[in-house]
Amino acid sequence: MTDDDFKNKKFETIAIHSGQVPEDGAQSVTTPIFPTTTFREDFPGDPSGYVYARWSNPTRVALEKAVAALEGGTHAYAFSSGLAAVQGVLNLLKSGDHVVAVNDLYGGCHRMFEQLMKPHFNIEFTYVDARDTEAFEKAVKKNTKLFWIETPSNPLLHLADIKAAVEIAKKQNILVAVDSTFATPYLQQPLALGADIVHHSMSKYLGGHCDVIGGVLAMKDEKLAEQVRFNQYAVGGILGPFESWLVLRGLKTLHVRMDRHCQNASAVVDYLKTVDAVEKIHFPGVDGKPLPNDMKLPGGMVSFEIKADFETVKRFVMSTKVFVLAESLGGVESLVNHPASMTHASIPKDVREAHGISDCLIRLSVGIESIDDILEDLKAAFAAIA
Ligand SMILES: *Cc1c(COP(=O)(O)O)cnc(C)c1O
Repeated sequence: MTDDDFKNKKFETIAIHSGQVPEDGAQSVTTPIFPTTTFREDFPGDPSGYVYARWSNPTRVALEKAVAALEGGTHAYAFSSGLAAVQGVLNLLKSGDHVVAVNDLYGGCHRMFEQLMKPHFNIEFTYVDARDTEAFEKAVKKNTKLFWIETPSNPLLHLADIKAAVEIAKKQNILVAVDSTFATPYLQQPLALGADIVHHSMSKYLGGHCDVIGGVLAMKDEKLAEQVRFNQYAVGGILGPFESWLVLRGLKTLHVRMDRHCQNASAVVDYLKTVDAVEKIHFPGVDGKPLPNDMKLPGGMVSFEIKADFETVKRFVMSTKVFVLAESLGGVESLVNHPASMTHASIPKDVREAHGISDCLIRLSVGIESIDDILEDLKAAFAAIA
């Protein structure tokens, strides 16, 4: 068996088999973990195999091949975290370059952009509403080199039109990177829509069990891939073999988990629509508009605002039991998060509020537990603040 045997297979088959032809000589069915820093050479400078594990490691390569295949790309590089992978994209820029990014961005990306890249490396950022294609066009300057598009965005779950953004970008050789963490390759495939790079925090749905931190970039342009790979090798933020193995294991059930995440999240939205205390629901398609980007389903994340003061909101997120109060998302377990004091606390309050992230906003990562228990848990939390 080689990877070519799986090239034209369906998503579910690729997720389980692609890249995962073991290199251990023992005919093991799953990919082994290779905990080695270095590899034996047959002669000095032997270029035929692996050399040093910062450059590549068989377990990591298996994962990279699998992600590339799932994204319809040719290359993928696995990083030590989602943010390390984001930096892998920003390392393609030079001092004085300008980036257009969506405004309700993952909090850690905002922190890196504003508190590190801008003051230390003189990279300029403009933030626009993900849904507003015209705003992307208006924000473009002579020195714009990158669109950083998170879709669905975090925590408001706004959707950007990737194809439209690509059209604007191509007029001026602007690189389009899509942070597709919330969608996963199962729900949307940005490379097929013309994006240059897809980013995932694999700490979320790809790993899928809240037990591994990792990031990945997938692409299909040979030259771009070469540059990204060189930068990763030069900087060193690679994913270790054990972590690579954990994500590989997660990938095999991605489609099954995503179907259930999406099914449960939609049921949660239907329930929230009936609750008086709920002021606004943020969920892809909740406005009745069709999903852009050929998105297969709206995803497993639900955000909503409740009519209550800060103390009551706090009480709500502290009264759930099935939903664990914790940052992060995308694991099999349901999590509840209060963005203003948790994931997005590093963004100044005025900026946060200007971007629509109010103190009354609650974000749910809907897990794959029984939907009956999930809904009962939410009902009990609403009763606790009534
Ligand atoms: C979590 C996350 C990141 C950062 O990933 P880490 O693995 O935590 O470093 C980036 N973007 C999005 C959308 C995320 O959810």
